[in-house]
Amino acid sequence: MEYVDSLIDLIGNTPLLRLGRTLDLPQGDPQAGPLVLAKVEYLNPGGSVKDRIATRMIEAAEASGALQPGGTIVEPTSGNTGVGLAMVAQKKGYKCVFVCPDKVSEDKRNVLRAYGAEVVVCPTAVPPEHPDSYYNVSDRLSSQPGAWKPDQYSNPNNPRSHYETTGPEIWKQTEGRITHFVTGVGTGGTISGIGRYLKEQNPDVQVIGADPAGSVYSGGTGRPYLVEGVGEDFWPECYDRDVADRIIEVSDADSFAFTRRLAREEALLVGGSSGMAAYAAKQLAHELAEAGRTDAVIVVLLPDSGRGYLTKVFNDAWLAQYGFPTSAEAPHQTVGEV
Ligand code: PMP
Repeated sequence: MEYVDSLIDLIGNTPLLRLGRTLDLPQGDPQAGPLVLAKVEYLNPGGSVKDRIATRMIEAAEASGALQPGGTIVEPTSGNTGVGLAMVAQKKGYKCVFVCPDKVSEDKRNVLRAYGAEVVVCPTAVPPEHPDSYYNVSDRLSSQPGAWKPDQYSNPNNPRSHYETTGPEIWKQTEGRITHFVTGVGTGGTISGIGRYLKEQNPDVQVIGADPAGSVYSGGTGRPYLVEGVGEDFWPECYDRDVADRIIEVSDADSFAFTRRLAREEALLVGGSSGMAAYAAKQLAHELAEAGRTDAVIVVLLPDSGRGYLTKVFNDAWLAQYGFPTSAEAPHQTVGEV
């Protein structure tokens, strides 16, 4: 019989999927342009890339004694890390309390509650040092006896999990032929861990961060943007400032329009940060095609599923409320309009 004992055993080893029509490159000609391969992380059992870091962070805390039997895991999270932590915690008998900014969709909060976690919601429109900011609220909760805060922003096991799993998977899946790696940047764990691993295998691999306009990584001051899970208003410890060769800034409008195209034209139902990263990968693919780099192999990481955003990115009324074009108005955007 073929089975696993735990969902935890199903984390990782996600497939690479070749992107097609949404790239707007000439089709059917193998010399036409670079290969763009999507690492589909929503196929992890908790539905996102964050399953990978949850396991590593909990196991390291158990080993160091920071997390004791029956303890409580307290973490500020936009949802995905929470799902990963809740899944592992349930298996191991820990309680979970998650602190979310108010821009995180109600769908995502309800998912965390469904796994048995408690959710505390904090305002986005306050600076990080404000007592009600989600960083400070989680600090207060995690100073309770028996509580442990994984702190995905500074925990070295966050980038380490990518250095040890996601990076080697991509290298093996592309048979070492990857030339460019593109990913969104939130805590910086994904880009730092995978980027370091790939550059150690081949220093010529280019590592490209995709970032919402307004976030610090692309030179912004942290001004609000709507894409969830990526961009920051501070520099997290997990972000290795030496790893990215380039940051591509993507607007909310382009991120959302491309997220919708991925669902309608590639049947890839993914979240807004995936649309953002894939849009940056498409832009890069066009630049490389123009430069005659038809040998390029671009891997873009798609962190989560679109199911958590049905009332937002996939809702015309929600998009229209912010003045973004709906799919009816902008079914095909080309990179020339960037
Ligand atoms: N996309 C989503 C939806 C996320 O939740 C996160 C994690 N905050 C990211 C992208 C970015 O990944 P990382 O934190 O590893 O930079």
